[in-house]
Amino acid sequence: MKFDIVSRGDHRSNNIKSTMTQYLTDFDLEYSEEEPDLVISVGGDGTFLEAFHRYVHRLNETAFIGIHTGHLGFYADWMLEEVERLIIEIAKTPYQVIEYPILEVTIRSKTGKEEDRFLALNEATIKTAEGSVVFDVDIKGEHFETFRGDGLCISTPSGSTAYNKALGGAILHPSLEAIQLTEMASINNRVFRTIGSPMILPKHHTCLLKPIVDRSFLIAIDHFTQTYTNVKSIQCRVAKEKIRFARFRPFPFWNRVRDSFVTEGDRTKMDN
Ligand code: NAP
Repeated sequence: MKFDIVSRGDHRSNNIKSTMTQYLTDFDLEYSEEEPDLVISVGGDGTFLEAFHRYVHRLNETAFIGIHTGHLGFYADWMLEEVERLIIEIAKTPYQVIEYPILEVTIRSKTGKEEDRFLALNEATIKTAEGSVVFDVDIKGEHFETFRGDGLCISTPSGSTAYNKALGGAILHPSLEAIQLTEMASINNRVFRTIGSPMILPKHHTCLLKPIVDRSFLIAIDHFTQTYTNVKSIQCRVAKEKIRFARFRPFPFWNRVRDSFVTEGDRTKMDN
């Protein structure tokens, strides 16, 4: 089996990376940055996002696993003290693969010539530095509302615990094939009216945002933000691709939610 390790780049994460590389190659696994079957991210959930985007072109052939060198993470759910166990698991145990949905974003320009397609693990956000964004929101080909406000966040179920949560969105179990739209400070008065609550769309419902007022948009795909002008539409839907997590032990999603946001859990109980 071929593996790569993506480190956050700090001293501690780099040390874990070199120790793991040494042990795993001793166990006859092959280090490969070109065609890894398994990508191990070492750092935090942010590092995991980087690892995902580094190998986004070969999601069908790659499984991911994350080690956190700080607090418990959502993607990085193996802790430092578990690294030894993880090395042995990777070397000795065939892992189970769990697939979760991701988001497809297609940005089309008014010239009709350019089209950018992205995959997001957490979310896409659309904002502007020039006042508020104004766009028509179509759902499944029908006009739904005209949104005016700071912006919109379209998240995956896995990303529902990230930016989406800070915007008052619901936490979705990552096995649900859906995307969630959350508003950022919508303007609601006698002129402008939006639904005002998060909406969850199933996988066969596409959401199309069509700018009414021409702006330079700041479009973020997970941790990368780019500026777009002359935008005709931004299309969001559940992607046909999925992320594949390598699973070596059960760690139920709701336990991770509880341990991250509600109470410090006793991790030893969860392995039973
Ligand atoms: P960052 O601003 O340095 O950190 C964002 C925080 O979000 C980090 O604590 C990160 O965890 C955590 N995070 C990332 N994915 C998560 C997930 N699926 N569930 C729960 N927490 C998660 O940015 P970054 O590390 O490059 O990550 C980019 C992400 O930041 C974006 O995808 C967006 O979701 C999030 N973000 C959140 C807000 C907000 O909550 N107001 C605003 C902007 C962006 P680690 O510490 O483990 O890396």
